[in-house]
Amino acid sequence: MQFRSYAPHLAAIFATMFAGAAPVSAHAHDALPLGDGNVSSKPKSGNVYSCQQRFNPNAPGAQASGKWIRGNEWAPTAKPIVDGAVAWPNSAITVSLEGDQRLVRANNLPDHKTGVFPVARADDAYRYDRNPNSIREQDILLRLPAVPQLASNPSCVPMGMIGFALTGAAIYNALDARGDDAPAHEIQDSCNGHPEHNGQYHYHNLSPCMTDSRSQPGGHSDLIGYALDGFGIFGLHGENGEIVENKDLDACHGHTHEVIWDGKKRTIYHYHFTEEYPYTIGCFSGTIENRQANRQMPRARQGNRAPGGGGHAVLQKAAQILGVSEHRLMDAVGAPPPNFHRAAQMLDKSEREIRQAFGTARQ
Ligand SMILES: [Zn+2]
Ligand SMILES: [Zn+2]
Repeated sequence: MQFRSYAPHLAAIFATMFAGAAPVSAHAHDALPLGDGNVSSKPKSGNVYSCQQRFNPNAPGAQASGKWIRGNEWAPTAKPIVDGAVAWPNSAITVSLEGDQRLVRANNLPDHKTGVFPVARADDAYRYDRNPNSIREQDILLRLPAVPQLASNPSCVPMGMIGFALTGAAIYNALDARGDDAPAHEIQDSCNGHPEHNGQYHYHNLSPCMTDSRSQPGGHSDLIGYALDGFGIFGLHGENGEIVENKDLDACHGHTHEVIWDGKKRTIYHYHFTEEYPYTIGCFSGTIENRQANRQMPRARQGNRAPGGGGHAVLQKAAQILGVSEHRLMDAVGAPPPNFHRAAQMLDKSEREIRQAFGTARQ
């Protein structure tokens, strides 16, 4: 098992910490509060205002957790990581201003090395999270507003991509498919990334492979990526170079002050990554236009649509969630469009359960 560098000290810290001898600060870097359950149906600090409100506790994800999670805390540095150092020389991303739009084009391969996916049997991470997916190129074309605007009301964040990092990979919200704290439960590689079922490599929190540079006045972090509402996502450091915490930000994980934006000093709303849950953004403060124009699809998957749409991977995942074989599920839903009513009878499940399985599988 490959632990991050200071694991030996950490073992000692853990031994002390969980013996109850030392009080654990919520903001100590070696132990963070676990975010499980902090999913809300409205904007709320320290929560993910999630568009999806019901989660299947048996959805695919890590199959076990280890000693890095204790009670209501988890220790990022004690979590195993997916081994490997796979380079992606074809990584490509361009960001350009065209009229009133900012276009992000990318193939979603990161500009840094990743672990080996699917997780190898020999990797000790396999014991906890058998991520069976491979990293695959995606066609990313995001049409973001060049000058994003605050909406009158924040909106919820979906599962899947909520933003895009300048490293060339996607940013997801803090939740895994079960609605739990993804960085705490899922095993990622040393860059805090992993692929989902379509092969999209993504982060749920700040990656040590993103450069949290601080060339802005006062030591404020530089831009690290864009949220899908067009606002920038910056690193851990605030206006005076201090580490930003949830209490310094609004419920969506942002605030307004002067930063360098498109090469000029501007007072503009922006988000921050934090070390604490929800790590990225809790909701969208801006308007989400052209949602349909935000294309994200795996390459070379055309013509392979499973019942319900979305390819073989969706069927596979839905079958896994429902605990039936792929073959049986395919038989039950029939030729497209899927017959959920018939499937419910054949599989002795509720129609709602089946719809939800497909819904989750598509994320
Ligand atoms: Zn993930
Ligand atoms: Zn700031």
